[in-house]
Amino acid sequence: MIQESLLEKIRSFTTPDELKSAGIYPYFRAIEKNNDTEVMIGGKRVLMFGSNSYMGLTNHPEVLKAAKDAIDQYGSSCSGSRFLNGTSNLHVELEEALAKHIGKEAALTFTTGFQTNLGAVSAITGRNGVIILDELDHASIIEGSRLSFSKVLKYAHNNMQDLEQKLSTVPLETIKMIVVDGIFSMEGDICKLPDIVKLAKKYQALVMVDDAHSLGVLGKLGKGTADHFGLTDEVDLIVGTFSKSLASLGGYVAGSKEMINYLKHTARPMIFSASTPPSATASALAALRIIQREPERLEKLWSNTAYMVNALQELGFEMGASETPIIPIYIRDNFLTFKFTQRLFEEGVFVNPVVSPAVKSDSSLIRMSIMATHTKEQLDTALEKLQMVANELGLARHVSVA
Ligand code: PMP
Repeated sequence: MIQESLLEKIRSFTTPDELKSAGIYPYFRAIEKNNDTEVMIGGKRVLMFGSNSYMGLTNHPEVLKAAKDAIDQYGSSCSGSRFLNGTSNLHVELEEALAKHIGKEAALTFTTGFQTNLGAVSAITGRNGVIILDELDHASIIEGSRLSFSKVLKYAHNNMQDLEQKLSTVPLETIKMIVVDGIFSMEGDICKLPDIVKLAKKYQALVMVDDAHSLGVLGKLGKGTADHFGLTDEVDLIVGTFSKSLASLGGYVAGSKEMINYLKHTARPMIFSASTPPSATASALAALRIIQREPERLEKLWSNTAYMVNALQELGFEMGASETPIIPIYIRDNFLTFKFTQRLFEEGVFVNPVVSPAVKSDSSLIRMSIMATHTKEQLDTALEKLQMVANELGLARHVSVA
């Protein structure tokens, strides 16, 4: 029997309906056709500036062929967990290729990046341990830390004094781990890894970096955040996802053989959930090979990003501390953020609104993400539409150019 108090709670959750009535509901927009930088929604062509496919490989012929060949050889599903019947030699090959690319001894794949964090963050420190997080770490890291039964401490975003203060409260002999996003997913800034590594040494903490947005984006050949700073040996665990630059679905954790062996036999979200299907595993591997072979893609991603950031700056948009292809445009008002998203969509540009509680209510923003495959014409069209809609909505305090 459903209790009245629960019904009341569910029925009083009216925000989605209110946004729908106002014609500004921005979620679950169904894509009918996806051509990488351009998608079809409601029969209309829309420029995609909300995708995490930074390398633009989701339609690459080699990636598609790898997926199709894998279906022919292995079928549509592995029908089980990695632990039991769900490991194919594609998983093993991908793990070896990832470990080598990242510069670690071994890697372990999971079914999503979210599950990787649930498994890797929760399995290590134990009931008497401490996990220390940046306050803007991804939701999956926060959920993983909750599952760990460890004490969780959070430090102010990218604030190394606060991190040191938090570390100094934990006895030296206590098992502790700092977990941090390499690139912060909404803000686009990079963690201060050199300082984090120094503090981790001083206070005897493990370091885990989430490279969901950094693989394919930072470091030589997109090897990630640790490589970007020349600190691969100093970082104990690197986690990531196939759902962004690797144009697929799945996740991984990389580290020493010992650590990966431990996780292989203790990470519950991997042990008790089916593995990535053959098609997704093969396409991630194909995307990795292309990234390794074609460094010009990385160059294009960064030249596109520089072009966009400079132009947005000239237009007077407020972009916070972003240093990467994730470009936040701060609107600082939930309603206006939805309205901005909707008007841009009507003008043929897809961006993502990020509002409270995902960010503080005075930090609501439009999240634009740049791909290596965006053309200059597409970037210019987006800029023109952004300026037009900002002026139309009277966002003069955000946009200085009339
Ligand atoms: N970590 C970070 C930092 C992310 O941004 C995301 C996805 N947005 C994930 C993990 C989860 O990745 P996945 O989509 O593979 O579940």
